Amino acid sequence: MIDLRSDTVTLPTPEMRKAMYEAEVGDDVFGEDPTVNRLQELAAERMGKEAALFVASGTMGNLVSILTHCGRGDEVILGDWSHTFLYEVGGIAALGGVHPRPVRNQPDGTMALEDIEAAIRPENIHFPRTRLICLENTHNRCGGAVLTPEYTSQVAQLARRYGLKVHLDGARIFNAAIALGVDVKELVKDVDSVMFCLSKGLSAPVGSMVCGSKEFISEARRIRKMVGGGMRQVGVLAAAGIVALTKMVDRLVEDHENARRLAEGLAELPGIKIDPEKVKTNIVIFEFNHPKMTPQEFTERLKEEGVLMLPIEGKRIRAVTHYGITAEDIDKALAIMRRVLGAMS
Ligand SMILES: *Cc1c(COP(=O)(O)O)cnc(C)c1O
Repeated sequence: MIDLRSDTVTLPTPEMRKAMYEAEVGDDVFGEDPTVNRLQELAAERMGKEAALFVASGTMGNLVSILTHCGRGDEVILGDWSHTFLYEVGGIAALGGVHPRPVRNQPDGTMALEDIEAAIRPENIHFPRTRLICLENTHNRCGGAVLTPEYTSQVAQLARRYGLKVHLDGARIFNAAIALGVDVKELVKDVDSVMFCLSKGLSAPVGSMVCGSKEFISEARRIRKMVGGGMRQVGVLAAAGIVALTKMVDRLVEDHENARRLAEGLAELPGIKIDPEKVKTNIVIFEFNHPKMTPQEFTERLKEEGVLMLPIEGKRIRAVTHYGITAEDIDKALAIMRRVLGAMS
């Protein structure tokens, strides 16, 4: 199977399994797991933040971050295509009583600065209080689009003018850094908190990191405990995270090359609409318009031929490149798609 549904399907590397087996562990709720502590120090250092916290998932990382910044009834400004708004089960509202204020995402993953500013609430007895702005980099639903350090900085300046905080959903922040050729610190230096995933392109089996100030992380640690995320001898997982962070970042460039290769091939196929120039990282989203086949029927046919892709909403299909997918796999997948489309014409 050539599995292009997500970079979450990546398997731990042999080096990760070895590190997991050999990990020195302790009770992390007491702060006594040396491997977790090492991972947290490493993550904080990579992000240029004071402290970091290991969490079970990206969803938990965003939830814990937002609940640390906001109290019940507070409002958070976030993109209407953001992962937190679309795909996190409404957790910030259900569990934290935090009111989401979706602002339209532009195709490049940004929200227009004037749209953000217009959504900030003035003091009024009728209104919830705006506390936080959330950004997403790379932007999943916007086809892996990359936010620049300049844009991030502009949003942070706007936030500061209104006394707001900024949280960055950086599930794939290293993909953004690699695509721009900048140090990841440049992309997060202006935000108050950042979450990134170890379990996507970096190939760890489990886990995400939340990074921020010492004070923020110590409060986030309480919230993590509250939502049931206080884990014990979790160094067995953190060990894989250390390998992910130290060994798996630089190779993301291969995923970007393969994604571009896929996009260029797709652009040649009948009934498929995509601009390969817009594919900057490892996510490829294309429109499927075929007179005789729905996107669901197309992905079903591909599955029979050994290629997995994810139909998202409407006519869109998503493919994601990752560790374990080679340029040869991309060529094979394209040949299969050509055949399936040819058989239907
Ligand atoms: C995957 C993802 C998350 C959530 O991560 P999980 O580990 O799947 O909970 C959050 N934000 C973005 C942008 C993601 O792509």
